[in-house]
Amino acid sequence: MTFVVTDACIRCKFMDCVEVCPVECFREGENMLVIDPNECIDCNLCLPECPADAILPDIESAATPWIELNRTYAAIWPAVSSNAGQRPPDAEAFKGVAGKYEQYFSPRPGQGD
Ligand code: SF4
Ligand code: SF4
Repeated sequence: MTFVVTDACIRCKFMDCVEVCPVECFREGENMLVIDPNECIDCNLCLPECPADAILPDIESAATPWIELNRTYAAIWPAVSSNAGQRPPDAEAFKGVAGKYEQYFSPRPGQGD
């Protein structure tokens, strides 16, 4: 099992999750994060920290569409382990918005740290 980030993270990117991960397995895209499945130790620390409910264990059916996206972009995007000053100013406005992948997903990498 691993944990995955779903499309609920897109344009929210609150980054509360990265601070608690003991193995620094979050990777940063331009407007969402993913989890590196090869690094995640299934500790469950990040899930309750996410204000957008964007993190799920991969055994949940709602996580299934996002498993491959996490695997693919974890290999491309840079690691991020600090949330200092990174929350987008309009993050709250995109919390819970439907269809964010189709409208806003960006394959471009974030800055990382
Ligand atoms: S806390 Fe949730 S919304 Fe924020 S970056 Fe992490 S997964 Fe995305
Ligand atoms: S479950 Fe634990 S190891 Fe996996 S991404 Fe979350 S905090 Fe990191």
